[in-house]
Amino acid sequence: MAEGFEKISKKVVAVADNAKAKAKELYDITKLKIELRKKEVELDEYLEKLGRAYFVQIKKGIDNSEKIEALVLQAENTSSEILDLKKSIADAQNKKICEHCTSIIDVDAPYCSNCGQKVVAEVKREDASSEE
Ligand SMILES: [Zn+2]
Repeated sequence: MAEGFEKISKKVVAVADNAKAKAKELYDITKLKIELRKKEVELDEYLEKLGRAYFVQIKKGIDNSEKIEALVLQAENTSSEILDLKKSIADAQNKKICEHCTSIIDVDAPYCSNCGQKVVAEVKREDASSEE
């Protein structure tokens, strides 16, 4: 009886582990999406500050070039962090990134569902390489 119980409990543990792994995967993707949203808000803030700094420079003749340069750098850094997060999310969901607008799209999508651009198919055709 003890042996039977052990078998069952091993099975229960295996099923629970599988569910746990799936839950963790979902949790990881959710975490990435939350982080992505934060970075997108951050980027908007930098761009807004950049616009204000530039406006003040033009309108009032105040030299804001150092501030502007720093904000451009911060915006660039945040943009590349956003792209990295999108790539991680796309990988986790078995999707890819649109090369035109960096939206996350289906691997087999012929057109981007966000910007409508034609998606250039990745080189994965085996028949092309066998033509010699
Ligand atoms: Zn696109």
